Amino acid sequence: MDRIDFRSDTVSWPTPEMREAMATARVGDDVFGEDPSINELEALAADKLGKEAALFVTSGTQGNLIAVLGHARRGDEAILGYESHVFQWEVGGMASIGGILPHTIPTDAIGRMDRAAVEAAVRADDHHLGHSTLLLVENSFGGRGGTALPKEYFADLRGVANRHGLAMHMDGARVFNAAVALGVEAADLVADVDTVTFCLSKGLCAPVGSILCGPTDFIEEARRTRKSLGGGMRQAGILAAAGLISLRSMIDRLAEDHAHASLLAQKLSTLDAVRVHMETVQTNIVHFELEHGSRISPEAFCARLDAEYGIGLGTYPPNLLRAVTHFWVGEKEVGALVDAIAAILKSS
Ligand SMILES: *Cc1c(COP(=O)(O)O)cnc(C)c1O
Repeated sequence: MDRIDFRSDTVSWPTPEMREAMATARVGDDVFGEDPSINELEALAADKLGKEAALFVTSGTQGNLIAVLGHARRGDEAILGYESHVFQWEVGGMASIGGILPHTIPTDAIGRMDRAAVEAAVRADDHHLGHSTLLLVENSFGGRGGTALPKEYFADLRGVANRHGLAMHMDGARVFNAAVALGVEAADLVADVDTVTFCLSKGLCAPVGSILCGPTDFIEEARRTRKSLGGGMRQAGILAAAGLISLRSMIDRLAEDHAHASLLAQKLSTLDAVRVHMETVQTNIVHFELEHGSRISPEAFCARLDAEYGIGLGTYPPNLLRAVTHFWVGEKEVGALVDAIAAILKSS
């Protein structure tokens, strides 16, 4: 990469090995189901997640939307965390495109919904009310600094879902980060949800794409929905070639990103004017804030870091700074970031 960039893991470029594989990928027309690389990627993804089938989609947002449209009908309600990515950052697609009502529940400091609150959000069988049909969960939980939520949490919510006939979808954009951090297989972590989306284009370093996994008949219908949303792609095997490398050799190394995030958090916490949200540093994201009374806003701070040091750093509402580690930032870059932050704090 040509600069130090901690804004997100989405900025990660494909690895040299990926570029090589993309250049020589076997391809076909995937809308005809004839792209061998896509077919191989979908089979491998389904296998890794322990689901029957999988569908390559353009983005995590598209994968989540297709899943929601598959589980709920117009006028139905989907229960999800207020701080969840689907509610905060996906343009309200479930409402604008699907006519589905998001019913939000607050999440705690590590991104969990309270089971009783979920249960209370389920609508009674009454003709004044819509049907509650879907429970949406997320892992790792991005809005809380990428916390890795354990299998027991999802198993508990599955009990609620079963009692009320709700389907469960997981926005698992970074589910492999969660699995690596918890030391479990991703398939175990998603065993209690019906469907799951994950991103190839974040820590797994592929340039484009996400995958939706679930039961065979659900994925067949999802293929139709993807086409209707303009997501049918032709020689997409060029992208799948990178995605295959993501699944074969980029998962275990996520532990390095986590170690770098942990190192960054430790170093930042030695700076006087910085408060790191240590309890949420569990995967590859570090949320921190400048001490109260600091005269510089998070946005202005990032702008200075970029202009004076050429380093990218992100913000997160309402007042947080966010650093995300990935394949292209190691110990040296962590050191450069901390030094630059210390220098700006000293001079502001
Ligand atoms: C990145 C992300 C998504 C999907 O993002 P796209 O940019 O649409 O691929 C969904 N959920 C979470 C938690 C994410 O971090």
